[in-house]
Amino acid sequence: MAATAQTTPVLVKASGPSLPDLGDGTAISPAIERKLGDSIVRSLYRDPDYLDDPVMTDYVQSLWQPLLKAARARGDLRPDLDDAFAWEILLSRERDVNAFALPGGYFGLYMGLVGLVQTRDELASVLGHEMSHVTQRHFARKTDNDAARTPWMIGGMILGMIAASKTQSSCNALNQCTNSGYDAANALIMGSQGLAVQSSLNYSRDMEREADRTGFGVASEAGFAPQGFVSMFEKLQLSSRNNDSGGFPYLRSHPLSTDRIADMQGRIGVEQSGSKPLASDWQALLMAARARVFADSGVDGLQRWQADVQPAVLSAKAPAQQAAALYGAALAAMRLRAYGQAAALAMQLSTVSAAPPVVDRLVRLLRTDIALAQDQVDVAVATVAAPVRAADAKDMSLDRSELLQRAQVQVRANDAGRAATALYLWTVDHPRDLGAWRALGAAYEAQGRPVAAIRAQAQADGLQYDWNAALGRLRAAQDLVRQGQWGAFGPDHIEASIVDTRAREIVQLLREQANQQR
Ligand SMILES: [Zn+2]
Repeated sequence: MAATAQTTPVLVKASGPSLPDLGDGTAISPAIERKLGDSIVRSLYRDPDYLDDPVMTDYVQSLWQPLLKAARARGDLRPDLDDAFAWEILLSRERDVNAFALPGGYFGLYMGLVGLVQTRDELASVLGHEMSHVTQRHFARKTDNDAARTPWMIGGMILGMIAASKTQSSCNALNQCTNSGYDAANALIMGSQGLAVQSSLNYSRDMEREADRTGFGVASEAGFAPQGFVSMFEKLQLSSRNNDSGGFPYLRSHPLSTDRIADMQGRIGVEQSGSKPLASDWQALLMAARARVFADSGVDGLQRWQADVQPAVLSAKAPAQQAAALYGAALAAMRLRAYGQAAALAMQLSTVSAAPPVVDRLVRLLRTDIALAQDQVDVAVATVAAPVRAADAKDMSLDRSELLQRAQVQVRANDAGRAATALYLWTVDHPRDLGAWRALGAAYEAQGRPVAAIRAQAQADGLQYDWNAALGRLRAAQDLVRQGQWGAFGPDHIEASIVDTRAREIVQLLREQANQQR
């Protein structure tokens, strides 16, 4: 989720007038910090590595929501911050092992890190730690000590830093760099401000310790095994030792001192701090496989999965590991358009013994995706409708993935009306669900309702803080209304008045932004 060569110039500019004017004051209010965060994620949403994957999102949310709930219950997350901040996690395809908190309650999570995780407890420990940097206002507290630089300058620096960390990651161990943006992005931080940027992103040791302790309390309260902290630390250490190509930015910003590990071990208590492994976690293993397919999507990387499912290799694995290997291999085969192979692997996955219900649900989503990719709409319709074993309460909620996929199948099966109704009702309950608005736009489009379709897409643009794109779409919708091009359903004056109102609101907003920058 960082800039490429193409987006770097935009980012450089972003440190200047296109970020909101936050004044010279050093005390950052939550509202101002949120504005700063909004302007940063605006660039991240446009990044080619930004990952919109409903299944991965459901998984991460199944950890994140209990953590938020626990932070509220403990009083770590105050109501004013709860309201003012976004508490939103942006996923990135990048293979670096990284996760970070941004101003305003935004978080970045890289597939490289998810691919390394073997239990939900481990991922919850990282998320709890990052969440605690924000609930404890570390960004504002750090900026308070740093009167020389205004918050918006820091915002620009953060963008530059993310850009630089990405381009470095595309260099291999022999320092052969494939990304042409390497020099440009590096130049961004190599100047006189280089050191200042580094220090503006790295929290103090005290803040890291506070985030560890608060995150530990939050994760434990949410029901995650406290050992997740220690085993994640150990995993990061071990993996970075075996892989010295600089793909571990998380360790650069979170150095693993023996202090930190000892502190967490002390908190767990002696009886649990030994080498007792956590129980095997099917869900985390399958999601790690999915993350690795996203993170390493070159042909070579995708083909490597097949070696892992050769009978001799597979039979040597424990059932949960077998399932993860088959899931990864099926996803990789699908990416390579080897659909027959993907379907066979999905079938094999459904026969792995003792698999929990979440595996059934993942298999169903996978088989439906394979059918859609092959244009076998009838098969997709049947697969979506097939009953699955009732998920037990501990399984990750896949409700949103299933809703979005069912809508996609309905649109393809000329049943867009039902998709539009279901998605519309979902957006009423989840008005900030970007992906649902995009899907609703597609359903309206397929239904022959161009004005409503454009309005839904404009809503999604607004959620990505791309106000110019949103306004451009709404103007196009106003043109259609003027020309009477309503489509199959005829005039809809309520829709037209919503379009007018939204357009006026955005014009007003852009005017205010322009005034602030003067
Ligand atoms: Zn930290």
